[in-house]
Amino acid sequence: MIERTRPAVFLDRDDTLNVNAELDWGLLTRGRDRLRPGDLVDPAHVELLPGALEACERLVDAGYMLIVVTNQSSVARGGSRIEEVDATNARLMDLVSRNGASLITAAYYSPHHPAGIVQPYNTAHPDRKPGPGMLLRASAEHGIDLSISWIVGDKQRDVDAGLAAGLAPSRCLLIGGAAKLGDIGAATEVILAARAAADARP
Ligand SMILES: [Mg+2]
Repeated sequence: MIERTRPAVFLDRDDTLNVNAELDWGLLTRGRDRLRPGDLVDPAHVELLPGALEACERLVDAGYMLIVVTNQSSVARGGSRIEEVDATNARLMDLVSRNGASLITAAYYSPHHPAGIVQPYNTAHPDRKPGPGMLLRASAEHGIDLSISWIVGDKQRDVDAGLAAGLAPSRCLLIGGAAKLGDIGAATEVILAARAAADARP
């Protein structure tokens, strides 16, 4: 078993790293009636939000491992296939790169939904946020110390997944919309300021 020593920032995917709500869903879902707004399943449609790449660079430079944790229930609902989720995540990891290497260590996703129609994903599952499954698995697989890690996302269920995994409430950051922090860049400022304050302590 790997020792859990590394700090990580868990990042939601859609509307945290890449554009989602602003996409033209009429166009994207044409001919696929089981998709609904929020289901980004085509790698060609992955577009980073302004400042996302720079935020990831700053976090990695400060020593944080970046782990994407995303719910992709369109698989359970029959709107997309696992291969499409994998391809979309791979495209995101490519876009968040520097010198040919992705800054994101791994992308975890939950294809589950309790009201889905596709087995075996049509079930409640601890991986599906607000469940802690993806964070706990990443911690074990990548040697992440959850007590010094953070989560950033645009939905309350992102925050709740962090809390369920045992992250300190102050390390679970809600961004976008009506949140105090506008975007991942603002969240990065909070994380780096906390790090600097901790480093300054005698
Ligand atoms: Mg999101």
